[in-house]
Amino acid sequence: MGDPTAEANRGLAVGPFAHDGVWLRCALHCHTTQSDGMLSPAMLRRYYSMGHFDVLAITDHDQLTPAPDAHSEDDDLLLLPGTEISLRSPESGGPLHVLGLGVNAMPRVPERATLLETAAAVQAEGGLAFVAHPWWTGLRSDELGDLAGVTGIEVYNAGCEVEQGRGDSAQYWDTLLSQGLPMLAIATDDHHYPGFDAFQGWTMVRAATRTPEAVLAALAAGHAYSSNGPDIHGIWIEADRIRVASSPAVAISLLGAPPRGVRVNAGPHGLKQPGDVPRGADGRRNGAYPGNLLTEATFPLLTGSPYLRVEVLDAHGRKAWSNPIWLPARG
Ligand SMILES: [Zn+2]
Ligand SMILES: [Zn+2]
Repeated sequence: MGDPTAEANRGLAVGPFAHDGVWLRCALHCHTTQSDGMLSPAMLRRYYSMGHFDVLAITDHDQLTPAPDAHSEDDDLLLLPGTEISLRSPESGGPLHVLGLGVNAMPRVPERATLLETAAAVQAEGGLAFVAHPWWTGLRSDELGDLAGVTGIEVYNAGCEVEQGRGDSAQYWDTLLSQGLPMLAIATDDHHYPGFDAFQGWTMVRAATRTPEAVLAALAAGHAYSSNGPDIHGIWIEADRIRVASSPAVAISLLGAPPRGVRVNAGPHGLKQPGDVPRGADGRRNGAYPGNLLTEATFPLLTGSPYLRVEVLDAHGRKAWSNPIWLPARG
């Protein structure tokens, strides 16, 4: 722990940044030859170990693939049991896929099961339910029914991005969040083909310890953020401001229920906008950084939204998405 005064000056850390533990890079949606993936379970494990992941969930369609053994001494991947359950959207009729992460056995539900029934079946097997790729499947937010028991959605799915350009479900997420639904998010590869949809979406989990149980507990608590490139280094709430630190970015956004949001843009020419916080914690002008990249931004605490969330955009167009921060009602 650092100097407590310095810590206090940085404000109150929120979300995963308020907790001790280890950061684990997690691949939470991957297929093998047990369903429609190209790699065998053993090769998939080896591939993600080589890709510097800490956690791998094999999520073959409608089955529970046994965890393959480590291929070598230096493979320290944690394996989470998982599956991707196929349902049919009740109204629009398209595929409705639900990830069951950490399940002890295959949750058995009919294809026409509701999301509520499916989430309950996943929970009964000790797992967490996440709705996969809602933007790609055309799932309407008004046809989900009761979301009790659903932990969250995939805010980003790399397979849907490289196949169609429909990987980013953040708009869909905002629609749910702005209704007050406490949906968390993960980013995933939905890996099928090495070199195509691999290592392009991951979830950074702040786990108390390096164990599958701690990873699941952290995912359930929202102690995580999603990324396909940038890192979020911290989010702090000060009296009336919120501060974000990240890897080098061209923009950092604070978003609430639409239309609320503020973005700090890198570069010396950022124009003032209503609600702008002109200077960051170090006294430098917000957005005006040498080299035109940001590593920190300071925002006003937006009012009128039940949640706030952060997005970081890097120079390659890649993003990181924080989980929502739920704020007590303020006057
Ligand atoms: Zn799917
Ligand atoms: Zn999949």
